[in-house]
Amino acid sequence: MTSPATVDLSSMLRARDLSRQIPFSGAVDSSKRVHRFPAGMMLTALGRQNISATTLSYGRLLRAPEVAEERERLDLGSVPLGEPALLLECNQLGKIVSPYPYFTVLHEFGHALDHAVALQRNLSEPFASRVYGEPFHAVWIAALESNLVLLRAREMDVSMKRLKRSQSDREKLERDVKQDHSQQEMFACAYAQYISTRRHGHPAIVTELSGLRAKDWKNRRYWEDRDFKPVAAAVELALETYGLLR
Ligand SMILES: [Zn+2]
Repeated sequence: MTSPATVDLSSMLRARDLSRQIPFSGAVDSSKRVHRFPAGMMLTALGRQNISATTLSYGRLLRAPEVAEERERLDLGSVPLGEPALLLECNQLGKIVSPYPYFTVLHEFGHALDHAVALQRNLSEPFASRVYGEPFHAVWIAALESNLVLLRAREMDVSMKRLKRSQSDREKLERDVKQDHSQQEMFACAYAQYISTRRHGHPAIVTELSGLRAKDWKNRRYWEDRDFKPVAAAVELALETYGLLR
């Protein structure tokens, strides 16, 4: 179990304590403008063992005090109520377990930002991407029109018709794909991929992204370059509208 690292996200991607494991400090393409989180927004990153049994992924954003499960409340430990915390699955040595550490963290940063914007703007939902008319919601609309989402939906139809799956298998598959295509999941993926393109050619990111793209349709959540263009444009426009691009 690693000790928590508190990260001031207003200086995006300069998380000192995590940088030993994640290439946060890689050079950003100097032609790109700087993206910042809302000033003073803090996120505590906590390393925990064996969290994937109860969650789908290797990382998870906990939003105190809205966390649902008793176990999550315990995981939050000393994190002040009202502050979000990022839970990362680590091994006994405190290393992040995810084979895609960079994308795992960026994806969760996406959720944290989506949540912070909702708080800042006093929205009725905990994530801005869920609110019609918000620029982050427009990212979801752009993502729904991408080939990635259209193909996955089609694959699911075909698979439901052709394969002799048990009822519970079918329900799980449908639930997983539906969850992946929800507003906040699509936004978090789009955000992670958008940020990854700001570190053009970074070897760790290139390797992670090609691994994520090579997944079978059931688990594929990241776009090919051309397919991603309109989605990236929506992310950029949203960040600009919220005043988070300098
Ligand atoms: Zn997520």
